[in-house]
Amino acid sequence: MRWESGKTRSIENGMPWVDPHVHIMPPRRMAGLVRWVKKFTPGFPLSEDITAEEILTSIRDSEIPYFFNLVFPLWVEETEDLNRFNRDICAGIPEAIPFGSVHIETPDKGGETRRCMEEYGFMGMKLHPFAQRFPAFGPEMRPMFEVLDEHQRVFLVHTGFDAWYGMYMDMEEMESVIRDYPRMQMVAVHSLFPRFRLAHRLVSEYPNFWLDMTNSISCMRLFEDIKNQRDDIPPMAASLEMDDVRENYDYFFRLFEDFPERIMYGTDFPVGFGCYPALLDDLRFFGFDHEVEEHLLFRTVQNLLSRCGRPDILASLQEA
Ligand SMILES: [Zn+2]
Repeated sequence: MRWESGKTRSIENGMPWVDPHVHIMPPRRMAGLVRWVKKFTPGFPLSEDITAEEILTSIRDSEIPYFFNLVFPLWVEETEDLNRFNRDICAGIPEAIPFGSVHIETPDKGGETRRCMEEYGFMGMKLHPFAQRFPAFGPEMRPMFEVLDEHQRVFLVHTGFDAWYGMYMDMEEMESVIRDYPRMQMVAVHSLFPRFRLAHRLVSEYPNFWLDMTNSISCMRLFEDIKNQRDDIPPMAASLEMDDVRENYDYFFRLFEDFPERIMYGTDFPVGFGCYPALLDDLRFFGFDHEVEEHLLFRTVQNLLSRCGRPDILASLQEA
């Protein structure tokens, strides 16, 4: 049920949905990703041989007009190949907005970032410090930040779910990077889940700090289900940081009240919490008003790309 694709632009919701978080990767990496998800999601319906065409079909069936395509190297050797892969595959997909990445051992991180921005025309870079297994905000990564700052481009970074990954992120180091590169637009993917109080303070202090609610909305819905003692709770709920969620609960809602124009809503498709209709349902579970929903589904990404000097990319989008 959660994995059926289908229309997301119904009559009562004519909004386009720009997805800032999709993974179309080379076959070997897709297989690894699906295998990894299957380890903790029994009954996960996707095959390890899922192809780019199949992913794209679901995206198109779900009427997603644009999406960010994200790759990240697990080994230093694949850095350049992976960035070229993303350039090449996205060149044939009008909906795709590609991002690059580097590894902590990539010798010339500034040079690779420059190639991604200047030659490949990428909108930014992405790091997943927990999957890539290195710190995202240490001194080694500063050459990448320098180039992103110079070009006023986007830095997407996985944040949050520390307990789930059994890893830790240095939030002070993160804040110093936000502060030191004011032209670089940092998007905290997963919105520091569940540290929404901290997310709220950072958004209020730094105009170059943005939030993506990928997976976090579904996890908060799960939290509500647990509170309401529903009996179909999936096993991963055990690793929700329940005490921390409770402590940050009010700030989750305050984020949408105070800063909807800085919050976007991605999916991690095809390996998140389901396909588009189910994930839209998770968002609508919270009953946010029309304006908030509009920002989450497309206006914030429009704002972000405008900040980067590319309002043209999403200029044609409007409500049906
Ligand atoms: Zn992801």
